[in-house]
Amino acid sequence: MSRPMSRSLIDLDGVAKTFGTGDAAVHAFGPVDLDIREGEFLSLLGPSGCGKSTLMLMIAGLLAPSAGSITIAGRKVTGPQTDIGIMFQDNTLVPWRTVRGNIELQLEMRGIPVAERAGRIDALLASVRLDGFADRYPYELSGGMQQRAAFCQAMVHDPPTMLLDEPLGKLDAMTREAIRQDLQSLWIERRPTVIFVTHSIEEAIQLSTRVAVVTPRPGRIEEFIDIDLPFPRDFDVKDTPEFTHYGRHIHKIFRSYGVL
Ligand code: ADP
Ligand code: MG
Repeated sequence: MSRPMSRSLIDLDGVAKTFGTGDAAVHAFGPVDLDIREGEFLSLLGPSGCGKSTLMLMIAGLLAPSAGSITIAGRKVTGPQTDIGIMFQDNTLVPWRTVRGNIELQLEMRGIPVAERAGRIDALLASVRLDGFADRYPYELSGGMQQRAAFCQAMVHDPPTMLLDEPLGKLDAMTREAIRQDLQSLWIERRPTVIFVTHSIEEAIQLSTRVAVVTPRPGRIEEFIDIDLPFPRDFDVKDTPEFTHYGRHIHKIFRSYGVL
C-alpha cells in the first residue's frame, strides 16, 4: 500500500555546520536543502563521520546550524523541540527507575499527567513485546530489551516526528531484525514522520519510504531514492528483485565515493 505523500513538515534551507574556527575548523555537514514530508519514513544513509548525528541534533534544536535555517511545521527551529521523539544508539534510560518509571519520566518532563497515559504505556510495552517487564530495572534487561524500552520512551508522548539516530546500531543481528519489525509496525499504525539514521543499506531499504544518500564529510545529500515496495516489509522482501536492485544501486553510489 504505497500512500500518496502529504505536505512538507520539516524544511532545511542551506543548512551547514562547521565546528571550531580558523585552522582547527571542521566542516562537518552541508550545505543541504531537504524537504521532509509529513508521515514519510526517511533514512539518512551515509558513512561514519559524514555529519548525520550533527544534522539530527540541529533538527532537534540541540545544536545551532552555522548557516541556513530549519523550520518545522512552518516555525523556525531556534531551541530544543519538545514535541519530537528522539532515540540514539546509546539509550537514555536512567538506572534508578524501572522501565515504566523511565517512560513516565518523559511525560513528567513535559508536564503530561502520568495517570491518563497508563493504558498507553501498557499498549506500547506490549507492542514491543515488553509486557511483563514494566517493573524491571534497566540492568535486568538485555541490550535489545533496553532499546525497546527506550523506544517506548521516545513514543509515549505521541510525537508527530521521530529522530532515530542508529537506534539499532549496537544490537546483534537477530534482535536488530526483530526490532526493525516492531518499529515498522508502529510506523504503519501511527504514521509519525521518521528520520532514521543508519549505515546499513539493507536496513534503509527495508524500512524507508525514501532514502537520502549522504556523501562523506562534509555530508551533502546527492541522491534521493524512493523505495517503492509495499508495506509491511518482512524478512522475505530482501529476496525480491526490486530490493536487490535498490541495494545494487546504492552500493554503486558508495563505491563511487570510495567508501566501499
Ligand atoms: P556521523 O553521525 O555521520 O558519524 P557526526 O555528525 O557525529 O557524524 O560528526 C561529523 C563530523 O563532525 C566528524 O568529523 C566529527 O568529528 C565532527 N564533530 C561532531 N561533533 C563535534 C563537536 N561537538 N566538536 C567538534 N567536532 C565535531
Ligand atoms: Mg552519528
